[in-house]
Amino acid sequence: MSLIVQKYGGTSVGTPERIRNVARRILDTRAEGHQVVAVVSAMSGVTNRLIELANEVTGESEPTDREMDVLLATGEQTTIALTAMCLNSMGSKAVSLTGAQAGIETDGVHTKARISNISPSGVHELLNDGNIVILAGFQGKTPDGKITTLGRGGSDLTAIAMAAAIDADLCQIFTDVDGVYTCDPRVVKDARKLEEISYDELLEMASSGTKVMQSRSVEFAKKFGVVFEVRSSLNRNSGTIVREETMSMESVVIRGVSLEREQAKVTITGVGDHPGTAGKIFGAISEANINVDMIVQNVSVSKTGTTDISFTVHKNDIAKAERALQPVLVDLGENVKIDAVDGIAKLSVVGIGMKSHSGVAAEMFAALSNAGVNIEMISTSEIKITVTVAEHQIEEAAKAVHAAFELGDSPIKER
Ligand code: ASP
Ligand code: MG
Repeated sequence: MSLIVQKYGGTSVGTPERIRNVARRILDTRAEGHQVVAVVSAMSGVTNRLIELANEVTGESEPTDREMDVLLATGEQTTIALTAMCLNSMGSKAVSLTGAQAGIETDGVHTKARISNISPSGVHELLNDGNIVILAGFQGKTPDGKITTLGRGGSDLTAIAMAAAIDADLCQIFTDVDGVYTCDPRVVKDARKLEEISYDELLEMASSGTKVMQSRSVEFAKKFGVVFEVRSSLNRNSGTIVREETMSMESVVIRGVSLEREQAKVTITGVGDHPGTAGKIFGAISEANINVDMIVQNVSVSKTGTTDISFTVHKNDIAKAERALQPVLVDLGENVKIDAVDGIAKLSVVGIGMKSHSGVAAEMFAALSNAGVNIEMISTSEIKITVTVAEHQIEEAAKAVHAAFELGDSPIKER
């Protein structure tokens, strides 16, 4: 008998029929002789609807974070009760638990609280009494009893953290996709579902556009060594296993290709090449709460002693970035100019095998050049190479790179 934590996301429990489907899946797992803790999200759309309601009743003023958490926690509370009732109606012993009832303690940072401690003895008792435990995702309580929520997408975190706390044998994240793919199958037709991927690769893919799971949950899983599977609740296909890297994972050079559209490039030219300038520029950007991604600084032109700095932001942030930079630019001198263009996209290749293989960048760039795609910016990490290209060429670019690394072939090519 194993102890299994399953997590079902909002779309998986989005209708009464889907809740019945989830209940049947839980029963199947139980019938195989396992103990089950099932973490559920709010039914799809519910959290957004609650946020809208809050905005409607408060008008011009902001709802307090404390009340926001009391409100948002009801989304998941609805689903746990419905799922437990459904299981009961099918003749099974199931009980629902809110995050607080399950002993999930957090800090007091409402709407994005961090889990500080889990006391799982109550959960163990219920399981040992023969119950299926249906646990509300995305929520907890402070030591003095205030209800908190863990940030959008936080049910993943509840599942991973509970799996660590009860030392589960397996943690399954059920969602509406079959797992993690070598590339977005809507863009690249022969994209393949990966059998396994390392935590670091999944994190890099998430940060470059492949949104499968909340990154905080993956970081948590890495920290506590929780091996988990991402799979679909809508079919019986096996999913993708996420774990610490193994030696054999390194023989695969590229695990996947990510793309991110709607990017913009901001370039500041004629910047004096001396200490403090980059600090001023990005200080202003960060104060405006704008997420910067790639940053490229040129070597300075020796005659003028000036340089150019470019970085990417989401295209919706262009105006905000220009506004935030105005005072800094005045400060940096009269020859400093700013230029912002949108219509660009990012393409990344990710793989821990890069650490031990050379020539990956050359192969990627050659594939892009053969496809007639111009590269605008390049940046690299130990396990990722990212370029920006014209947005209208991003699909072509992704297909070319995916094919060059033979990711559509099965099994993935080893070198
Ligand atoms: N219901 C929350 C949200 O929509 C938490 C979750 O679904 O994981 O963000
Ligand atoms: Mg959700």
